[in-house]
Amino acid sequence: MTRNGSTQLQSTEHGTSAFRVLRGIAVSSGYGSGSRPLHGICLDVARQAGAAGNRPIGSIIVDAAGGIVAQGENRMYTTFDPTAHGETVAIREATRKLRTVDLSGCTLYTSLEPCPMCCWAIIDSRFGTLAMGGRYAGLGRKDMGRYSVEAFLEFMGRPLQLVTGIRARACEDLRRAWEAEQQARARV
Ligand SMILES: [Zn+2]
Repeated sequence: MTRNGSTQLQSTEHGTSAFRVLRGIAVSSGYGSGSRPLHGICLDVARQAGAAGNRPIGSIIVDAAGGIVAQGENRMYTTFDPTAHGETVAIREATRKLRTVDLSGCTLYTSLEPCPMCCWAIIDSRFGTLAMGGRYAGLGRKDMGRYSVEAFLEFMGRPLQLVTGIRARACEDLRRAWEAEQQARARV
């Protein structure tokens, strides 16, 4: 549902590939209580990650019935593991719990656009939908080159339904605040 209460799904063809990019807030019966509250959970998880000394990224995985099957927060610095991103931590929890690497039918909600490593993990575990909060473009990140999830999917020729723009500002502000904090600490 959008803020004015109507369901708004705008799909656009992206390049020559078959996947659809859904802008705005996508809510269907498959998403239970809706995307905004679910991204609220991602934000809470992200804040916990930041408070623990990690990058403030949080992810949750929701099954086709709308149940939360896993959540993950960035643990990179506290576990000395550059692969411990919010998305991979959540995927590992879900696959362990469900005892399968096939998460088709599930949706991954994440507070920030997944990096290429996580994007591939999302594709390889067959998620049906990826719902993102903040974007690299929104953060003005120059260190990601021409990368975006859309560009990556197009490059790999793989389909994935995307939901974008959910609480993007809040997700990006959280990341920006963390970045500023790191820079302030580095100056001390
Ligand atoms: Zn990642």
